[in-house]
Amino acid sequence: MSYFAERKPHAVFTPYPLQGHINPLFKLAELLHLRGFHVTFVHTDYNHKRYLKSRGPNALQGLPDFRFETIPDGLPPLDADADADVSQHIPSLCDSIRKNFLQPFRDLLARLNHSATTGLNPPVTCLVSDCFVTFPIQAAQELGLPVLLLSPLSAGAFWSFMHYRTLVERGTVPLKDESDLTNGYLDAKADCIPGLTNFRLKDLPDFMRTTDPNDVMLNFFIEETDKIPSASAVVFNTFDELERDAINAISSSFKLPSVYTIGPFPLLLNQTPHQHLESLGSSLWKENTECLDWLESKEPGSVVYVNFGSITVMSADQLLEFAWGLANSKKPFLWIIRPDLVIGGSVILSSEFVNETRDRSLIASWCPQEKVLNHPSVGGFLTHCGWNSTTESVCAGVPMLCWPFFADQPTNCRYMCHEWEIGIEVDSNAKREEVEKLVNELMAGEKGKKMRERTMELKKKAEEVTRPGGCSYINLDKVIKEVLLKQT
Ligand code: UDP
Repeated sequence: MSYFAERKPHAVFTPYPLQGHINPLFKLAELLHLRGFHVTFVHTDYNHKRYLKSRGPNALQGLPDFRFETIPDGLPPLDADADADVSQHIPSLCDSIRKNFLQPFRDLLARLNHSATTGLNPPVTCLVSDCFVTFPIQAAQELGLPVLLLSPLSAGAFWSFMHYRTLVERGTVPLKDESDLTNGYLDAKADCIPGLTNFRLKDLPDFMRTTDPNDVMLNFFIEETDKIPSASAVVFNTFDELERDAINAISSSFKLPSVYTIGPFPLLLNQTPHQHLESLGSSLWKENTECLDWLESKEPGSVVYVNFGSITVMSADQLLEFAWGLANSKKPFLWIIRPDLVIGGSVILSSEFVNETRDRSLIASWCPQEKVLNHPSVGGFLTHCGWNSTTESVCAGVPMLCWPFFADQPTNCRYMCHEWEIGIEVDSNAKREEVEKLVNELMAGEKGKKMRERTMELKKKAEEVTRPGGCSYINLDKVIKEVLLKQT
């Protein structure tokens, strides 16, 4: 559906330069493109190089009205390998985003507006950014354009970050000393955050678990969230039934601009055929598609899918506990092990493990996750609880084992295991016996069955809100009319 017969509005997208932030922003870019926008998607040079590499020598560099542009990330090149295929160091990225991104971005906008004079693209009419990449707010103000922020996180996690300053002002954060991490201090209720009544301090995004008042990440989030109220609006890749309390609390906050729930994106995108956009994709890693053929050979609902996302790392010992827990469960499993998943280098799994699991396992380094989750053979997901993975699993009706690693993952884990009852938490130091027991519970136990039913209920609700006439579907139209097409 296009709103515009002649000159298209032109939205410029700036993701935080990590996979889990690029994906939801890319989906929003696709949704706007399908509604008639000209899109410019801005990668850092580093990520664009990886993007092109992951798509092979015939990589499409965009469509006529869906273009990629790049800006430098201001970081020194990664040491040894100019072709490194890893996520960059997060505190350094945060620091550089604040210091180095605005001027090249201004220059890019000027170039795009200049090329509009020769008809190469429409002039820039609005900016869409990650809610933790706020430099476009200033650029938008300078040009008199609307600027929309997308939270790549659950509404609850976003709302927790918005309260970091309050936590500091109340003296809750920073922690007094390291012992607060283990002495029960973090078991206290997070009672300064309306809408998260049952959440404890340990369920909040974990960048507040620091003893250092000058901690780079703590201060990055405080300073970035301070700027969010100056944006035109904030949108969430979630839906009201999922996070009603948090969304109500956010909506009634006078400090924030308008907020809209427009998720979950995978189902909203399904409403419009978009094969031509699928050729673009947003993955920075090369996807192994053979795992889809392998899944074809398995019984419906029989396979445990294991994937810890793009950043999580673990010790070699922990990997072995997962490996033997999976092996001893006797369930078929598809396990994505990124080359940099294990701290200190890769682990060679023993021939004993390989012989034991040969007929019922497949290990790959990256996969098309949404296709995997939607494959009928997948019956459960062992996940690190990234928000994209969480929503993708809900959209596919697949229940989860939750092994949160960092950032917003403890918050998502709390939602899954205690609020929505679609997940079981796995201890951070889980041994193979616990992994085996929980995998069996997930795939064949009573609790697993109930979780599967609950996940299917949420999936149905997600389908309802993303259909024409559903709340998220209507909200996207509102965002376009009330925010993106509004003259400031
Ligand atoms: N993903 C993928 N293939 C993989 C692993 C991850 O396509 O093998 C995608 C996944 O579908 C999700 C994103 O990468 O959209 C990961 O985001 P998430 O928020 O789950 O976790 P993060 O990587 O940010 O920790």
